[in-house]
Amino acid sequence: MTELPRSASVVIVGAGVVGASIAFHLTQRGVRDVLVLERDRAGAGSTGKNAGGIRLQFSSEINVRLSLLSVPEIERFADITGVDAQFHQVGYLFLVTTDRDAAAFERSFQLWNRLGVPARRLSADETRELLPQLNVSDVRFASFCQRDGYADPSSLLRGYLTCARAAGARVVEGARVDGIDVENGSVNRVRLGAQAVICEHVVDAAGAWAGEVAALAGVAIPITPHRRTIFVTEAFDGLPERFPMVIDFATGFYFHRESGGVLMGMPPVEEVDGFREDVDWDVLPRVVERALYRVPVLERARIKTGWAGLYEDTPDAHPIVGPVGEPRGFLAACGFSGHGVMHAPAIGSLVSEVVTGARPSVELALLALDRFGKGTAVREHNVI
Ligand SMILES: Cc1cc2nc3c(=O)[nH]c(=O)nc-3n(C[C@H](O)[C@H](O)[C@H](O)COP(=O)(O)OP(=O)(O)OC[C@H]3O[C@@H](n4cnc5c(N)ncnc54)[C@H](O)[C@@H]3O)c2cc1C
Repeated sequence: MTELPRSASVVIVGAGVVGASIAFHLTQRGVRDVLVLERDRAGAGSTGKNAGGIRLQFSSEINVRLSLLSVPEIERFADITGVDAQFHQVGYLFLVTTDRDAAAFERSFQLWNRLGVPARRLSADETRELLPQLNVSDVRFASFCQRDGYADPSSLLRGYLTCARAAGARVVEGARVDGIDVENGSVNRVRLGAQAVICEHVVDAAGAWAGEVAALAGVAIPITPHRRTIFVTEAFDGLPERFPMVIDFATGFYFHRESGGVLMGMPPVEEVDGFREDVDWDVLPRVVERALYRVPVLERARIKTGWAGLYEDTPDAHPIVGPVGEPRGFLAACGFSGHGVMHAPAIGSLVSEVVTGARPSVELALLALDRFGKGTAVREHNVI
């Protein structure tokens, strides 16, 4: 491990896209004494294993607001950081097939209209115009937003880290935080084996492992790791080069273009808590069954590869962001429940506002840890 500095104003635990965005936004606000500690290599967690989906179409106002803060930064990422985020703004197409989901999406259209989200309700026929190969026989309607799409998470990570480093932040890989000292109710230092770094703020951006990091400071954060598997086909020319990210909402089956092939994912039949990251082959028959039903031409496609990573689920599928009460100086930036790439720009901005004492751009109380104790948590409906 590279030699560590004796002190830093802000220590960020975890160099995924969230930790990287926080480091970048802190340096943009003039906080340069930033140290990012990563136990493995940058991007080794969920950031290196996800589908890259970016969307405004959430059911809760706070999640929509996080996306409204994030999407413009992803749209302008090359201008801001010099790295192309490869944002394919092809839209997200939610296929709605059940009464329950139809009612929820009808409510969401009102919310999106109020917040300026350009989502449209499409009939089954209009839906097929976007992708003629889709089977829409059971589709009640679809929800489509052209500003949504998918980007390359590794490019986002690289852009943030490159700029943060250039502005003075230090990023140390192979550096596992295994202790957090608290003195007089405030964080005082982080420990890495025999080494220690004195600091004023510790930001927990440890993804699915954030609960373990919080426990080092005596904080209980309700994050449960859940495995998600993705499969990608060989190059496939039976579909257009460009089409939206499609979500078969009732089953959670989704797909989009990836390197000339098709990337597909789906939740497991039974959710098992834990840190397993090997491919869940039990999901494959379900993915194939749904793919053939929804897009029959995929019968000609061949699965090339698959991988798995972790969702970091909270009880209400919203992130936990900001101060946690005690110890003072400990900030949460975790619990993204499968949406951490798309919300990373907003979270970086919010955490930097908290650290510098600026007024947060969104109502942070809605994302505070204490919402669970107060019973004010409201569940996000549009989770895949
Ligand atoms: C299959 C799949 C599909 C997904 N699809 C999407 C999607 O379409 N859109 C989207 O927005 N999100 C998606 N996600 C979720 C997204 O990947 C995560 O929300 C996001 O990557 C979280 O980023 P992060 O930086 O918080 O965490 P991570 O990328 O997991 O980074 C946390 C880092 O902390 C490090 N760490 C842990 N403990 C310590 C310690 N003690 N000391 C030092 N370092 C430590 C880890 O090594 C890791 O590198 C998906 C996830 C999966 C698994």
